[in-house]
Amino acid sequence: MKKLTRNFYIGLAVVFLLFLIGVIVNREMEIPKNGKEGPEYLTVSKSPKIEGIDIESIIEYGEHYSLGVHYPVTKQDEINSKITEFVQSHIANFKSDVTLLFEGPVPPGGYPSWKYELNIDYDVHRYCKEIISFKFNIISYTGGAHTIRDIKTMTFNLESGKVVDLNDTFKEDSNYIDIISQKSAEQLIESGRLGNMLNEEWVRDGTAPKEENFKHFALTDNSIIFYFPHYQVAPWIAGEQYVDIMYEELLTILNPDFINIPKESDNDGIPIPEKPNVPEQPIGIEKPEAPIIDKDDSLLVAITFDDGPHPSYTNTILDELKKRNAVATFFVLGNRAQYYPEILQRIISEGSEIGNHTWSHKQLTLLTPEDIKKQINDTQRVIKSSTGIAPTIMRPPYGSINKNVRQQVNMPIILWSVDPEDWKYKDRDIIVGHILTHTKDGDITLQHDLYKTTVESVGPILDELIARGYKFVTVSQLLDFNKDSSKPITGEVYSKRK
Ligand code: ZN
Repeated sequence: MKKLTRNFYIGLAVVFLLFLIGVIVNREMEIPKNGKEGPEYLTVSKSPKIEGIDIESIIEYGEHYSLGVHYPVTKQDEINSKITEFVQSHIANFKSDVTLLFEGPVPPGGYPSWKYELNIDYDVHRYCKEIISFKFNIISYTGGAHTIRDIKTMTFNLESGKVVDLNDTFKEDSNYIDIISQKSAEQLIESGRLGNMLNEEWVRDGTAPKEENFKHFALTDNSIIFYFPHYQVAPWIAGEQYVDIMYEELLTILNPDFINIPKESDNDGIPIPEKPNVPEQPIGIEKPEAPIIDKDDSLLVAITFDDGPHPSYTNTILDELKKRNAVATFFVLGNRAQYYPEILQRIISEGSEIGNHTWSHKQLTLLTPEDIKKQINDTQRVIKSSTGIAPTIMRPPYGSINKNVRQQVNMPIILWSVDPEDWKYKDRDIIVGHILTHTKDGDITLQHDLYKTTVESVGPILDELIARGYKFVTVSQLLDFNKDSSKPITGEVYSKRK
């Protein structure tokens, strides 16, 4: 009997615990609504990791080069100028390299079909609300056997605007370089990450106790990460390496001023998750009914905007569309989308479509199959977790495709049939004129929601096309009503209605 009673109480306690967990989980899953006037969009709070920063993208489609550069923008001018200085110097060097390559006569057989490329993207780590680390991944391709891969890390105090370096992080009089050197070598050798590419001598050399060996670091909420570029601690083929050392292991050498930063209270008690980058709750967005279209309808057009979302430009375009009951398709970048989940939700809830434009706008034709998949899948994940809906169409950056890309992309590939080169002209009248002169039934137009002049062109384009009797549809709607009744196929390329 006694045993039964005990089991009964244990059972009761378990039920109560489960109830409590249920309450807590439910509270965390609640999606706050924003208080702005107008339609109520369900808002997903951003990850605390990227809270308070914006993303800026520079994307150029040069004749001989592709440029996709992304960098964070904080509320501190001092920090922003350090970041832009670094970014701009890379762009300037790259462009002067390309100019040199194209000086002189055209080589026999002409220029190569691929383009030279610079891509800079970044990861964010956060020790606490004030201390943030950016890790920039720089990839440039200017011919030769390898793409050039470089790393740059910067850690800042967002409050003071000052740079945080290793001397701030560790006690000045401690032998911290010796300790991190020893711990790094140990971890690289013992973790097994290097597999059969482990060469202990190479590891010890690359982690020798010198400041320059540890200049790439990031501070997370519970550890310090040191990055080692290609070749520093292992052969090129092993790729970039890192070690992740918990603060607990470093307590005797960490600078007490640094440790004393009150982490919990400063962050409103929200622990900073390292992964995932975006909240993963399901979102209940209402997708409005699609317009009634007939395959015999003529004068259908799908207008598309690439490279966003942008915190103001995309919203203004959506305002213009809404005023005229029109829809468009937005091919968004995953690395930008993670900052603006509420814009993604607005696009869907107003009947427009989101397409996948990859994570960081790299030329897919220069990537391995694994890297192509990652560019696509990471972007799908961000869009799905913000809107509940994963895109079913994709557009490759720079329109670059080959057999490899077509095989790896698990969706119809969408190009365009009308291109006003808005990124180049940045002139409202030229953009409007080009689109109005060239647009015919079934066309897909291309613009970029990163430029003010593009935003200004939207109203006049919509008004005139409406006056000419056009109906605006999303790309998926357009291809669902191909005149030949064919349905879009995975890996096939479409640049207009068939
Ligand atoms: Zn693009």
